[in-house]
Amino acid sequence: MAYVNTRGLSLRRSDYSETSQTVTFFAPDLGRINVLAKGIKRGTGKRPASPIDLLELDELVILQKAPGALSVLVEHRSMDRFNALRGDLARIRAGLYAAELLLAMTHEGQSAPALFDRTVEYLRSVDRHGANRLLTAAYELSVLDAEGYLPQLNRCAECGGPISGGTRVVMASGQVSVACPACARGGSGAAVLLRPPTVKACEGLLRMGMVAAVRMKADAGMIREISTLTRGIIRNLLGRDLRTWRFL
Ligand SMILES: [Zn+2]
Repeated sequence: MAYVNTRGLSLRRSDYSETSQTVTFFAPDLGRINVLAKGIKRGTGKRPASPIDLLELDELVILQKAPGALSVLVEHRSMDRFNALRGDLARIRAGLYAAELLLAMTHEGQSAPALFDRTVEYLRSVDRHGANRLLTAAYELSVLDAEGYLPQLNRCAECGGPISGGTRVVMASGQVSVACPACARGGSGAAVLLRPPTVKACEGLLRMGMVAAVRMKADAGMIREISTLTRGIIRNLLGRDLRTWRFL
Protein backbone atom coordinates (compact mmCIF):
# COMPACT_ATOMS: atom_id res chain seq x y z
CA MET A 1 0.00 0.00 0.00
CA ALA A 2 1.23 3.46 -0.85
CA TYR A 3 -0.10 7.01 -0.76
CA VAL A 4 0.08 8.66 -4.17
CA ASN A 5 -0.39 12.37 -4.95
CA THR A 6 -1.61 13.03 -8.45
CA ARG A 7 -4.04 14.94 -10.61
CA GLY A 8 -7.04 13.21 -12.10
CA LEU A 9 -9.96 13.83 -14.39
CA SER A 10 -13.19 12.09 -13.37
CA LEU A 11 -14.61 9.97 -16.20
CA ARG A 12 -17.25 7.82 -14.51
CA ARG A 13 -19.00 7.39 -11.17
CA SER A 14 -21.09 4.56 -9.85
CA ASP A 15 -22.79 3.91 -6.52
CA TYR A 16 -20.94 1.56 -4.21
CA SER A 17 -23.10 1.83 -1.11
CA GLU A 18 -25.61 4.29 0.32
CA THR A 19 -22.86 6.74 1.17
CA SER A 20 -19.95 5.77 -1.08
CA GLN A 21 -19.17 5.74 -4.77
CA THR A 22 -16.49 4.36 -7.02
CA VAL A 23 -14.96 6.96 -9.31
CA THR A 24 -12.87 6.27 -12.42
CA PHE A 25 -10.17 8.90 -12.83
CA PHE A 26 -7.76 9.44 -15.67
CA ALA A 27 -4.40 10.47 -14.23
CA PRO A 28 -1.15 11.35 -16.05
CA ASP A 29 1.07 8.86 -14.24
CA LEU A 30 -1.45 6.19 -13.24
CA GLY A 31 -3.60 6.16 -16.37
CA ARG A 32 -7.14 5.01 -15.73
CA ILE A 33 -7.76 4.15 -12.10
CA ASN A 34 -10.88 3.16 -10.14
CA VAL A 35 -11.03 4.38 -6.57
CA LEU A 36 -13.46 3.96 -3.72
CA ALA A 37 -14.65 7.35 -2.48
CA LYS A 38 -15.97 6.64 1.01
CA GLY A 39 -18.73 8.82 2.40
CA ILE A 40 -18.65 11.03 -0.67
CA LYS A 41 -22.43 11.22 -0.96
CA ARG A 42 -23.29 11.98 2.66
CA GLY A 43 -20.01 12.65 4.36
CA THR A 44 -18.50 10.75 7.25
CA GLY A 45 -18.35 11.67 10.93
CA LYS A 46 -15.25 13.77 10.33
CA ARG A 47 -15.91 15.12 6.85
CA PRO A 48 -18.83 16.75 5.04
CA ALA A 49 -20.05 15.34 1.74
CA SER A 50 -17.99 16.61 -1.20
CA PRO A 51 -19.36 15.14 -4.40
CA ILE A 52 -17.17 14.83 -7.46
CA ASP A 53 -18.71 15.89 -10.76
CA LEU A 54 -18.02 14.17 -14.04
CA LEU A 55 -15.23 15.87 -16.00
CA GLU A 56 -13.77 17.61 -13.00
CA LEU A 57 -10.01 18.06 -12.72
CA ASP A 58 -8.92 17.31 -9.16
CA GLU A 59 -5.83 17.09 -7.03
CA LEU A 60 -5.97 13.65 -5.47
CA VAL A 61 -4.41 11.64 -2.69
CA ILE A 62 -4.98 7.97 -3.36
CA LEU A 63 -4.17 5.01 -1.14
CA GLN A 64 -3.06 2.50 -3.75
CA LYS A 65 -3.79 -1.10 -2.80
CA ALA A 66 -2.27 -4.32 -4.10
CA PRO A 67 -3.17 -5.26 -7.70
CA GLY A 68 -6.76 -6.48 -7.88
CA ALA A 69 -7.90 -4.55 -4.79
CA LEU A 70 -9.81 -1.29 -5.07
CA SER A 71 -7.71 1.79 -4.24
CA VAL A 72 -9.15 4.37 -1.85
CA LEU A 73 -9.56 8.10 -2.42
CA VAL A 74 -8.14 9.80 0.67
CA GLU A 75 -8.44 13.46 -0.35
CA HIS A 76 -9.56 15.48 -3.34
CA ARG A 77 -9.52 19.16 -4.16
CA SER A 78 -11.07 20.62 -7.28
CA MET A 79 -8.59 22.36 -9.63
CA ASP A 80 -10.89 23.06 -12.59
CA ARG A 81 -14.58 22.35 -13.07
CA PHE A 82 -14.80 23.73 -16.63
CA ASN A 83 -17.81 25.78 -15.60
CA ALA A 84 -18.86 27.05 -19.05
CA LEU A 85 -18.87 23.46 -20.25
CA ARG A 86 -21.60 22.65 -17.73
CA GLY A 87 -23.94 25.38 -18.93
CA ASP A 88 -24.23 24.46 -22.59
CA LEU A 89 -25.55 21.22 -24.09
CA ALA A 90 -23.17 21.11 -27.08
CA ARG A 91 -20.19 21.67 -24.77
CA ILE A 92 -21.38 19.01 -22.30
CA ARG A 93 -21.75 16.47 -25.10
CA ALA A 94 -18.27 17.29 -26.46
CA GLY A 95 -16.89 16.84 -22.94
CA LEU A 96 -18.73 13.59 -22.24
CA TYR A 97 -17.41 12.31 -25.54
CA ALA A 98 -13.85 12.66 -24.21
CA ALA A 99 -14.84 10.52 -21.20
CA GLU A 100 -16.43 7.85 -23.41
CA LEU A 101 -13.46 7.84 -25.78
CA LEU A 102 -10.92 7.47 -22.96
CA LEU A 103 -12.92 4.71 -21.26
CA ALA A 104 -13.12 2.82 -24.57
CA MET A 105 -9.59 3.38 -25.86
CA THR A 106 -7.26 3.38 -22.84
CA HIS A 107 -6.26 0.62 -20.44
CA GLU A 108 -6.24 0.58 -16.68
CA GLY A 109 -2.94 1.44 -15.04
CA GLN A 110 -1.18 2.50 -18.25
CA SER A 111 0.47 5.89 -17.72
CA ALA A 112 -0.33 8.45 -20.41
CA PRO A 113 1.00 11.92 -19.49
CA ALA A 114 0.83 13.34 -23.03
CA LEU A 115 -2.73 12.16 -23.55
CA PHE A 116 -3.71 13.53 -20.14
CA ASP A 117 -2.36 16.98 -21.11
CA ARG A 118 -4.13 16.87 -24.49
CA THR A 119 -7.40 15.90 -22.78
CA VAL A 120 -7.22 18.81 -20.34
CA GLU A 121 -6.33 21.09 -23.26
CA TYR A 122 -9.36 19.77 -25.20
CA LEU A 123 -11.76 20.36 -22.29
CA ARG A 124 -10.36 23.86 -21.71
CA SER A 125 -10.78 24.68 -25.43
CA VAL A 126 -14.37 23.40 -25.46
CA ASP A 127 -15.01 25.32 -22.22
CA ARG A 128 -13.65 28.59 -23.66
CA HIS A 129 -14.45 28.45 -27.36
CA GLY A 130 -17.44 26.11 -27.60
CA ALA A 131 -17.75 22.73 -29.24
CA ASN A 132 -16.84 22.31 -32.88
CA ARG A 133 -16.23 19.38 -35.19
CA LEU A 134 -12.61 20.18 -35.97
CA LEU A 135 -11.74 20.38 -32.27
CA THR A 136 -13.39 17.01 -31.66
CA ALA A 137 -11.63 15.46 -34.68
CA ALA A 138 -8.30 16.88 -33.46
CA TYR A 139 -8.87 15.28 -30.07
CA GLU A 140 -9.69 11.93 -31.71
CA LEU A 141 -6.39 12.17 -33.62
CA SER A 142 -4.55 12.81 -30.32
CA VAL A 143 -6.12 9.78 -28.64
CA LEU A 144 -5.37 7.48 -31.59
CA ASP A 145 -1.81 8.79 -31.84
CA ALA A 146 -1.12 8.44 -28.10
CA GLU A 147 -2.45 4.88 -28.09
CA GLY A 148 -0.40 3.92 -31.17
CA TYR A 149 -3.37 3.37 -33.50
CA LEU A 150 -2.72 6.16 -35.97
CA PRO A 151 -0.75 5.04 -39.06
CA GLN A 152 1.81 7.26 -40.76
CA LEU A 153 -0.25 9.12 -43.33
CA ASN A 154 2.46 10.46 -45.65
CA ARG A 155 4.26 7.19 -46.49
CA CYS A 156 2.89 4.31 -48.57
CA ALA A 157 2.91 0.97 -46.75
CA GLU A 158 3.03 -0.90 -50.11
CA CYS A 159 5.94 0.73 -51.99
CA GLY A 160 7.53 2.53 -49.03
CA GLY A 161 7.58 5.86 -50.89
CA PRO A 162 6.38 9.25 -49.73
CA ILE A 163 2.80 10.02 -50.74
CA SER A 164 2.16 13.18 -52.70
CA GLY A 165 -1.16 12.84 -54.48
CA GLY A 166 -3.64 11.79 -51.81
CA THR A 167 -3.51 9.07 -49.16
CA ARG A 168 -5.89 6.14 -49.31
CA VAL A 169 -6.61 4.53 -45.93
CA VAL A 170 -8.51 1.26 -45.72
CA MET A 171 -9.87 0.01 -42.39
CA ALA A 172 -10.96 -3.61 -42.15
CA SER A 173 -10.86 -6.49 -39.64
CA GLY A 174 -8.95 -4.49 -37.05
CA GLN A 175 -6.22 -3.55 -39.56
CA VAL A 176 -5.50 -0.14 -41.06
CA SER A 177 -3.56 0.13 -44.33
CA VAL A 178 -2.17 3.23 -46.01
CA ALA A 179 -1.36 3.45 -49.72
CA CYS A 180 -0.34 5.97 -52.37
CA PRO A 181 -2.55 6.48 -55.46
CA ALA A 182 -0.37 4.14 -57.58
CA CYS A 183 -0.51 1.27 -55.06
CA ALA A 184 -4.10 1.79 -53.87
CA ARG A 185 -6.21 -1.10 -55.04
CA GLY A 186 -9.88 -1.71 -54.39
CA GLY A 187 -9.61 -3.60 -51.10
CA SER A 188 -12.64 -4.30 -48.98
CA GLY A 189 -13.61 -2.41 -45.85
CA ALA A 190 -14.22 1.22 -45.00
CA ALA A 191 -11.92 3.52 -46.97
CA VAL A 192 -11.15 7.21 -46.98
CA LEU A 193 -9.12 9.29 -49.42
CA LEU A 194 -7.25 12.08 -47.65
CA ARG A 195 -6.27 14.98 -49.89
CA PRO A 196 -2.70 16.29 -49.35
CA PRO A 197 -3.91 19.43 -47.45
CA THR A 198 -5.87 17.14 -45.09
CA VAL A 199 -2.75 15.06 -44.33
CA LYS A 200 -0.87 18.31 -43.62
CA ALA A 201 -3.70 19.50 -41.38
CA CYS A 202 -3.57 16.22 -39.41
CA GLU A 203 0.18 16.64 -38.91
CA GLY A 204 -0.33 20.24 -37.73
CA LEU A 205 -3.09 19.25 -35.32
CA LEU A 206 -0.95 16.48 -33.82
CA ARG A 207 2.06 18.76 -33.45
CA MET A 208 0.31 21.83 -32.10
CA GLY A 209 -2.73 20.37 -30.40
CA MET A 210 -6.00 22.04 -29.59
CA VAL A 211 -4.68 25.58 -30.05
CA ALA A 212 -4.25 24.76 -33.75
CA ALA A 213 -7.75 23.28 -33.94
CA VAL A 214 -9.28 26.47 -32.58
CA ARG A 215 -7.36 28.69 -35.05
CA MET A 216 -7.21 26.50 -38.15
CA LYS A 217 -9.36 27.31 -41.16
CA ALA A 218 -10.65 23.97 -42.41
CA ASP A 219 -13.42 23.49 -44.96
CA ALA A 220 -16.26 21.05 -44.37
CA GLY A 221 -14.70 18.50 -46.75
CA MET A 222 -11.44 18.44 -44.80
CA ILE A 223 -13.20 18.01 -41.46
CA ARG A 224 -15.28 15.20 -42.97
CA GLU A 225 -12.13 13.42 -44.22
CA ILE A 226 -10.45 13.64 -40.80
CA SER A 227 -13.59 12.42 -38.99
CA THR A 228 -14.08 9.56 -41.45
CA LEU A 229 -10.49 8.52 -40.74
CA THR A 230 -10.60 8.80 -36.94
CA ARG A 231 -14.04 7.26 -36.46
CA GLY A 232 -13.29 4.58 -39.03
CA ILE A 233 -10.21 3.53 -37.04
CA ILE A 234 -12.14 3.63 -33.74
CA ARG A 235 -15.05 1.60 -35.17
CA ASN A 236 -12.63 -0.88 -36.73
CA LEU A 237 -10.84 -1.35 -33.38
CA LEU A 238 -13.89 -1.59 -31.13
CA GLY A 239 -16.27 -3.26 -33.57
CA ARG A 240 -18.97 -0.74 -32.65
CA ASP A 241 -19.90 2.93 -32.71
CA LEU A 242 -19.54 5.11 -29.63
CA ARG A 243 -22.82 6.24 -28.06
CA THR A 244 -21.95 9.94 -28.03
CA TRP A 245 -21.35 10.08 -31.81
CA ARG A 246 -24.98 10.66 -32.71
CA PHE A 247 -25.15 13.69 -30.38
CA LEU A 248 -22.04 15.46 -31.70
ZN1 LIG B 1 2.77 3.11 -53.00
